[in-house]
Amino acid sequence: MLWSLLSAEVANQNPVLLHGTTAAYFIAILLFILGIKMMSSPATARKGIHWAGLGMLLAVITAFVHIYFLGQSDPQLFLKLGLMVLMILIGTAIGWYSSLKVPMTDMPQMVALFNGMGGGAAAVIGYLDLLHGHGPVSLKVLAAAAVIIGATSFSGSIGAFLKLQRWISSRPITYPGQQLVNALLFLGSIVLGYLSIAGPTALNVNLFILLPLLLGILMTLPIGGADMPVVISLFNALTGLAVAFDGFALQNYTLIISGTIVGASGTLLTILMARAMNRSLFNILFGAFGKVQKGGEEEEKVMKEMSIDDAASILAFADKVIIVPGFGMAAAQAQHKVKELMEELEKRGVEVKFAIHPVAGRMPGHMNVLLAEADIPYDKLYDLEDINPEFETADVALIIGANDVVNPSAEWDEGSPIYGMPILQAYKAKNVFAVKRGRGRGFAGIDNPLFYLDKTYMLFGDAQKVVSDLVQALKKL
Ligand code: NAP
Repeated sequence: MLWSLLSAEVANQNPVLLHGTTAAYFIAILLFILGIKMMSSPATARKGIHWAGLGMLLAVITAFVHIYFLGQSDPQLFLKLGLMVLMILIGTAIGWYSSLKVPMTDMPQMVALFNGMGGGAAAVIGYLDLLHGHGPVSLKVLAAAAVIIGATSFSGSIGAFLKLQRWISSRPITYPGQQLVNALLFLGSIVLGYLSIAGPTALNVNLFILLPLLLGILMTLPIGGADMPVVISLFNALTGLAVAFDGFALQNYTLIISGTIVGASGTLLTILMARAMNRSLFNILFGAFGKVQKGGEEEEKVMKEMSIDDAASILAFADKVIIVPGFGMAAAQAQHKVKELMEELEKRGVEVKFAIHPVAGRMPGHMNVLLAEADIPYDKLYDLEDINPEFETADVALIIGANDVVNPSAEWDEGSPIYGMPILQAYKAKNVFAVKRGRGRGFAGIDNPLFYLDKTYMLFGDAQKVVSDLVQALKKL
C-alpha cells in the first residue's frame, strides 16, 4: 500500500515534492549506473559497490520522505513507518552478519538467498497492487507479470540455495512428466493471473501467488549443483524484470530503471557463463546435467605422486610457471600462501603468470576476487584466450585445486559431457603439477585424463598445506 503512494500520479498533486523526489531518485539512479560501470574492473569494483550502495541508501531515504509527506492524513502512518524501519534493521543485521561470517566458497548460495528476497519483494508488491485492485487493466497486467516472475524467482532461488548448501541433494532430481507439470503450473499461473485482474478476490489472488512459488521450486529440481550459478544468475535477471514491471505498475521510475539494469546485467552474465561452459541455456535448464549414470565399472588409473622437495626444486629452476587456480584453492583459502609462493619464485627469477578460466570456482570472478584479496597484481592474471598460447612455453603448469577447467576431455573426447567447453590448455605445458586432496572429481563429476599423463605429477593434500610446504621447501633451497 505504502509503495503505491510513490506513484507519480499521487506526487503530481504536490509539485515541490514531485521535483524533489524526482531529483533525488535521478541521483540514486546515476549512482547505480556509475557503480555498476566501476564493478566491471577489479581495480574499481570496490568503489563501484560503495557508489551503488550509496545510491540505494539515497533511494530508500527518498522513499521514506516521500511516504511521510504523502501519508499525512493516514492515522497509522507512524506505525507503518516504524514497522518498515524495524524490518530494514532486521534485514540489515542479518545481511551484515552473514556477509562477515559466510566463507567465500559459500558466496553463490548467499547471492541466491539475497536475490530470492528481491524476487519475493517484487512479487509481494504486485500481489498487493492486484489485491487492492486500483489502476487501469494495463498496469494490473504488469503487476500480475511481476507476481509470476518474482514469485518464481523467489522460490527458485531458495531451491538453488538448498541445493548448493546441500540441504537437499545437489544432483538433478527428475521424474516422468516433469516438464508437463511445470508447463501446466505456468499455464495455471496465467489463468489465475487473468482471474485476479478481471475479478480480484482474496482467494484468486492468494492462489495466483502460490502457483509460481511452486513452479520456481520444481524448476530447480532437475538442475544439477554445477549449473546452479548460471541458474542463480538467470533468477537474478528475472528478479530485475519483476522489479521493472512493478515500476511500470506503480509508475515509479527508480524501480523501472534499477530493475532493467539488474535484468540486463543478469541476462548478460547468464549468457556469458553458459557460453564459457559451451552449454545452451535450454540444456542447463532442462538437460539434467550431472545426473548419476548407472553401470560401466571404471578401471582405476594411476596418478603419479611427487614429493614437495622435488617439486620445489623443479619450480625453483624453471623459467616460466603458470599457476591455474580453481575451486580447491578457494575451498582451502590458499590464496595468501599462493602469493608467498609467487614471491619466492620471482625472487629466483622465475616468471610467474596466473591463468584464469571464466568459470573457475563457483561463481564468475571467483578467482579474481580471491587473488585480489591476497594482493596479487592484476597484470599477472591472464584470461583464457591470452594465456592458452603460452602453456607450450611454460616449464610447469601448477594446478591448484582446479579440475574441470583444465580437463582435456573437453577437446579430446567427443562423448564427454563437457566436450566443446573452452579449457585452459595446461596439458601443453612441459610439466604439470596438480595440487588436490585425492582422487576427487570436479563439479561436473567426470574423470580428468590430465592427471594420468606421463608429464603430470600429483601433490596430494589440502591446497593451503601443500602450497605452504612448497614455500618452506623453496626457502630452504
Ligand atoms: P572443480 O572442477 O570443481 O574441481 C575442484 C577440485 O579441487 C576437485 O577436483 C577437488 O579434488 C579439489 N579440491 C577441493 N577442495 C580442495 C582442497 N581443500 N585442497 C585442494 N584441492 C581441493 O573446480 P574448477 O576447475 O575451478 O571448475 C569449476 C566448476 O564449477 C566447473 O565445472 C564449472 O563449469 C562449474 N561452474 C562454475 C561457475 C562459475 O561461475 N565459476 C558457474 C557454474 C558452474 P579433491 O576432492 O581430490 O581434492
